[in-house]
Amino acid sequence: MTASSKTIKGATGDWEVVIGVEAHAQVTSKAKLFSGASTEFGGGPNSYVSLVDAAMPGMLPVINEECVKQAIRTGLGLNAKINLKSVFDRKNYFYPDLPQGYQISQYKSPIVGEGEIVLDMADGEQVKVGIERLHLEQDAGKSLHDQHATMSFVDLNRAGVALMEIVSKPDLRSSEETMAYVSKLRSIVRYLGTCDGDMEKANLRADINVSVRKPGAPLNTRCEIKNMNSIRFIGQAIEHEARRQIEIIEGGGTIEQETRLFDPDRGETRSMRTKEEAHDYRYFPDPDLLPLEFDQAYVDGLREHLPELPNVKKGRFTRDFALSEYDASVLVAERETAEFFDAVVKKPDGDPRDAKTAANWVINDLFGRLKKEGKDIASSPVSAAQLGAILDLIADRTISSKIAKDLFEIVWNEGGDPREIVSSRGMAQVTDLGAIEKTVDELIAANPDKVAQAKANPKATMWFVGQAMKSSGGKANPQAVNDLLKKKLGV
Ligand code: MN
Repeated sequence: MTASSKTIKGATGDWEVVIGVEAHAQVTSKAKLFSGASTEFGGGPNSYVSLVDAAMPGMLPVINEECVKQAIRTGLGLNAKINLKSVFDRKNYFYPDLPQGYQISQYKSPIVGEGEIVLDMADGEQVKVGIERLHLEQDAGKSLHDQHATMSFVDLNRAGVALMEIVSKPDLRSSEETMAYVSKLRSIVRYLGTCDGDMEKANLRADINVSVRKPGAPLNTRCEIKNMNSIRFIGQAIEHEARRQIEIIEGGGTIEQETRLFDPDRGETRSMRTKEEAHDYRYFPDPDLLPLEFDQAYVDGLREHLPELPNVKKGRFTRDFALSEYDASVLVAERETAEFFDAVVKKPDGDPRDAKTAANWVINDLFGRLKKEGKDIASSPVSAAQLGAILDLIADRTISSKIAKDLFEIVWNEGGDPREIVSSRGMAQVTDLGAIEKTVDELIAANPDKVAQAKANPKATMWFVGQAMKSSGGKANPQAVNDLLKKKLGV
């Protein structure tokens, strides 16, 4: 993507869109941030609420170490600075589903400082996006307004669940980059196992800050589009919001800092409230909690046990397996997919299979079939071991690639050991051509015009190969058929 294709044309010239993302990622942990109540999803209303979560008088928060570990691990995955000392603050605002009357969050001293995410764009461009900070904070509960005609109810199951707020620098310049950023962030936390990334359940949601300016001009006032939990809608919301702001400015107006909501049905954003400034929240250190402190050895211990992350995996796939950048990035997008591919490439005895063939089969045949059936890799009817066995049958020339597609279908529908299926159903490739020699002779006798063509241009032999393959039911070895034909035609 060139710089100019990232700009939007307005009546007065080109405009640049400046985007920053504040993501809220629910920490994967059995218990809440400051209480022992369960974080399970889908329980009856108020079934996971401790006295701390309900903010009963005199209750004191106790930090959950698991959440601290997860925040540090995420910070390491973002190549970020881990702060050995951080502070929890009270962010004061009234919300009917926040019983404390304040949210315990981190303000001036977050647990994680600056980091970076590298995006691989479809055209091969790499975009570096700065991470400003990551801090831990509590989630709020949920108000239910549709249960009763005159009353609102509250469900506090989510109140007090740990969130990581991950704030990017305003380094994004298009809806495509922003969608790629949220996808990459989701991929990283899923690899780490620090957040399940389930956007439908709002376990990962993003506030998108959008402003526009003439290229090179200082930053303009931004609007925040709140609580986006679909990557596709994030793209649509940015496109709409940027054009809305351009029209206002070109019409002689100014942008007011505000919080807006995206309406997917109408494809537009609308005002929700004017945006609060930090000083509206009266932040102050929570006197119920000591500063959070740990040492470098603790961080190093966590770093040692991090899984191989997508960028490192991608580097390994392009380097060790000579895969293209594109194939590698498709395979590493999800940890499960990358692990499946790793398992396909490795023979039971540990020797490698041909990685390029394996990548083609996983990306084209398997992913294509999974997509068609609406399945994901975890529910694939063809296992990595089965696909690997199919590849071995191709490699040792027991079957042709064409028959391999039929075999894949059989394994997909019926399961079973691919090698046994090939032998029990007589699918093996035929290299002894005695059986089709007669057909070849007949073809040559019946098609003198094609024979003449083949003699003039050996490429025309392919017509005979095709016919002979067909008569063998696809089981003849194409190379052997080719050799036979060349001999008979004298080309
Ligand atoms: Mn927040």
